[in-house]
Amino acid sequence: MCGIVGYIGHREAYPIIINGLKRLEYRGYDSAGIALYDGSKIQLAKTKGKVVDLEAEVAKGITTKGSLGIGHTRWATHGVPNDVNSHPHYSNSGDLVIIHNGIIENYSSIKKELIKRGYVFHSDTDTEVLVNLIEEIKKKEGVKLGKAVQIALNQVVGAYAIAVFDQKKPNEIVVAKLGSPLAIGVGEDEFFIASDASPFIEFTNNAIYLEDEQMAVIRLGREIRIRKIKSDKRIKPFVQELKLNIEQIEKGGYDHFMLKEIYEQPAVIKDTFRGRLLADQGIIKLGGLEEFIPKFVNADRIIIVACGTSWHAGLVAEYTFEDWARIPVEVEYASEFRYRNPVITEKDVVIAISQSGETADTLAAIKLAKEKGAFVYGICNVVGSTISRETHSGTYTHAGPEIGVASTKAFTTQITVLTMIALKLAHVKGTISRSDYMMHLRELDTIPTHVAKALESNDEIKEIAKVFKDSPNFLYLGRGYNFPVALEGALKLKEISYIHAEGYPAAEMKHGPIALIDEQMPVVVVAINSNHYGKVVSNIEEIKARKGKIIAVVTQGDTAVRELADYVMEVPKTPETLTPLVTTIPLQLLSYHIAVMLNRNVDQPRNLAKSVTVE
Ligand code: GLU
Repeated sequence: MCGIVGYIGHREAYPIIINGLKRLEYRGYDSAGIALYDGSKIQLAKTKGKVVDLEAEVAKGITTKGSLGIGHTRWATHGVPNDVNSHPHYSNSGDLVIIHNGIIENYSSIKKELIKRGYVFHSDTDTEVLVNLIEEIKKKEGVKLGKAVQIALNQVVGAYAIAVFDQKKPNEIVVAKLGSPLAIGVGEDEFFIASDASPFIEFTNNAIYLEDEQMAVIRLGREIRIRKIKSDKRIKPFVQELKLNIEQIEKGGYDHFMLKEIYEQPAVIKDTFRGRLLADQGIIKLGGLEEFIPKFVNADRIIIVACGTSWHAGLVAEYTFEDWARIPVEVEYASEFRYRNPVITEKDVVIAISQSGETADTLAAIKLAKEKGAFVYGICNVVGSTISRETHSGTYTHAGPEIGVASTKAFTTQITVLTMIALKLAHVKGTISRSDYMMHLRELDTIPTHVAKALESNDEIKEIAKVFKDSPNFLYLGRGYNFPVALEGALKLKEISYIHAEGYPAAEMKHGPIALIDEQMPVVVVAINSNHYGKVVSNIEEIKARKGKIIAVVTQGDTAVRELADYVMEVPKTPETLTPLVTTIPLQLLSYHIAVMLNRNVDQPRNLAKSVTVE
């Protein structure tokens, strides 16, 4: 995920693009760049860092004159964040310049082909491949830029929002979209391009939102031409009037980043699958894993080290790895592990999980494991982060920047990656039957739809939040795969509402926490259809007998728990092994609404920080 901005018209492009990038920094902020046409050639500046660093870079040397330009604030997916990998990217001739938000999945085969034809690449990005493919087509076919972009996009697989221009034809910008957002602001003899409308809201209220598989040639002095990338069909531009303020737009119309991130989950889980899960073909392909599969398969055990929410994702993986791949797993708090003088050998594989990739305790645990000779695999969200560099290999979650301090989409994408790894290993080891493997791949592929469905209960969950917002304590219970979900639900509530909450395995309740239950005590029980259903129903009866208030997460169509519970939150049916990806959704929403009703600072709760880089 990244932010893109472009301008063509009669004003100075530079301040519009720089301010626009600042508004889009929530989308990514590991590097930034700008390309302006100064009247005779392209002026380009880019750097690792934030938009303020770009301003300093620009001040060192380039001319900021010109009324045509594009800019980018990056959230790296291919290639570490550094100056060279930053966008915009030139084509080999230096005539074309591009910005891109998304992932070109088949970039490496295209790159090989272009290298054979003499193209040279300076960066590690997929984006530089795309701009050179466009250039190659433009030259070879003798077509205009718009046509070359269209032909190129028909050859690529992946997701993109792009803007590209040619310094030899500085009166137009070509844009296209598939999977990543792209808005075009329409002014008087001027056009704005951006990932959302925030960069141009003070200049125009008129915007065209490109749809997937559409492209547009934006040329000064004429109407925008939109066409379908695949069929070439012309589309009449639909200009809509925006009634949003900047604050709302940056959060995509949501009141808080956390809510926006909760709602992004169907899309980011899909992004995390992209190019990796080919359900129909029965393939899971994780770049960082393939060559190290023997390490995992021959390991004595897997030790998962993490903190906070990532530790809960690790607990879910304990179930899948053991259940499917039959590899013993231990899940450790990184902070305890590092100081415990743990037994680690060369036959151990350590998986370190961290959203930011900077968590100090997890980093220390990695160093210790490496010293003892273990193979260390990282699962991080931030490309180029310290953990991604310190580990032997790893897989990125493609959740995009997570701004809300309480982790939501990072958690579900971590589980997504871990589930893919577990299935892959089980398949290679032969510890899962072919039919079970295929069923799980297909079910995993439909998880984004199930998550979207679970989000539809938002209004009912809000009503439940109203009833319980003043409760001083909550208990969260779950069994099996949903025990970690109960822990995560309790953590979410604590973090953002400051209400005390305990997560427990449902069967453990009678060994202590049951003493807390009285008519004031809300108990959130994950009671979905599973192997433990009957047992969980009994636990609910035990709570009821002590007059506790039951809020149950149930499978759609459930009747038994519905009769017993005071309130239910429904989720679609999925195999039990995948339920954490959906049962966690209502618990995120419940915490969110309670915190909002209590006027808490949802995105920046007191005493917490997004990435814990201290011990
Ligand atoms: N795949 C591109 C890169 O890594 C764009 C990433 C983005 O959307 O920020 O540079």
